[in-house]
Amino acid sequence: MSEKKPYDITVIGAGPVGLFGVFYAGMRKMSINLIDSLPQVGGQLNALYPEKNIYDMPGFPVVRAKKLADDLLEQAKSAEAEITLNTRVTSMKAVPNQENLEYWELATEDSEPIRTKTVMLALGMGAFRPRKLEIDGLDERIGQNVHYILKPLDFYRRKDVLVIGGGDSAADWTLAMAEKGEGGNSLARSTTQIHRGSRFTAHEATVDMIAATGANILKNHELRSIEEYNEDGKKRLRCKLEHNIEKTFKDLDVDEVIICLGYVAKLDFVKDAGIEMKKNSIVVNEKMETNLPGVFAAGDVCHHEAKLKLIATGVGEAAIASNYAKCFIDPKAKAFPGHSTSVMAKS
Ligand SMILES: Cc1cc2nc3c(=O)[nH]c(=O)nc-3n(C[C@H](O)[C@H](O)[C@H](O)COP(=O)(O)OP(=O)(O)OC[C@H]3O[C@@H](n4cnc5c(N)ncnc54)[C@H](O)[C@@H]3O)c2cc1C
Repeated sequence: MSEKKPYDITVIGAGPVGLFGVFYAGMRKMSINLIDSLPQVGGQLNALYPEKNIYDMPGFPVVRAKKLADDLLEQAKSAEAEITLNTRVTSMKAVPNQENLEYWELATEDSEPIRTKTVMLALGMGAFRPRKLEIDGLDERIGQNVHYILKPLDFYRRKDVLVIGGGDSAADWTLAMAEKGEGGNSLARSTTQIHRGSRFTAHEATVDMIAATGANILKNHELRSIEEYNEDGKKRLRCKLEHNIEKTFKDLDVDEVIICLGYVAKLDFVKDAGIEMKKNSIVVNEKMETNLPGVFAAGDVCHHEAKLKLIATGVGEAAIASNYAKCFIDPKAKAFPGHSTSVMAKS
């Protein structure tokens, strides 16, 4: 057991909501731990749509999702939180001091238990992981030339790319690779998209835009095996594709494979902790409190009568949760934090 003092607050989930909650907890001079199961902050912004533009952020007529995540992290830095990535919280239990709660103990997959006086659950849809394709030899290439989470777009410049999947994310990435930019060139040298079904489930407008790019679109095709080989000192991948109706095979040689088969999300530790849920969301009151003492929730994961799953409303909930978490620790503290113009002003 760690001898460290319990944190004032642990924010679970480093999506936009958790990051803004960290900023506000910093403004209230709380000691903060921020933890996320993904290897990077930003939640859905970085994991699902880093290159998409967002149009409904106050003060930003348009902002790229990745840029918004970067700026939220920059803003959160003033809070001097400890940030732990790649670490999933798996359970939480109350440690009592006689009758009352002393602190919460959070267990994680592979780090020491975390002790914290309050918790903000900013879990989005839960700890999400890309749905995996089970093919020999694929796993050891993840992050090299097989990608479930995209690298910055420039990484794919003038490469031969295979995109696997038929939903919105797969369509977005195919378009990003194949769309003709200024000068009439696409980012990737060649783009192939395969989908095991006979229809794409992506938005029709995107499918039409892809058709106009001339990308190689193969319906009813599945990846069956993958083999790495060297060409002029560069690693290439020979992908064996099967037409799943005709039962015919063909080889496709590419540099990079992008797999977009959706995500599986886990919220089990919340349910196990006895937190009141409505469907898959955590029930909160107007102070963003759950039914457990010192445990708050904000953002996509929470439920209240007026809930909207949007960033603009989620970050407001995070501000409320942080300020009432401060009151939970120090009942004499005011909920109103003061204005940042005065509180954060540098002398
Ligand atoms: C394609 C797309 C476009 C969108 N466009 C817009 C838009 O234009 N405007 C808008 O307002 N919203 C938009 N949204 C919705 C917006 O992205 C979400 O409302 C927002 O991301 C919710 O933020 P969050 O911080 O609550 O959750 P998330 O962004 O989902 O972050 C939650 C984080 O919690 C982590 N986590 C969960 N469980 C655990 C655990 N057990 N241990 C550790 N970490 C955990 C996850 O890994 C994740 O990083 C869009 C969503 C999508 C998919």
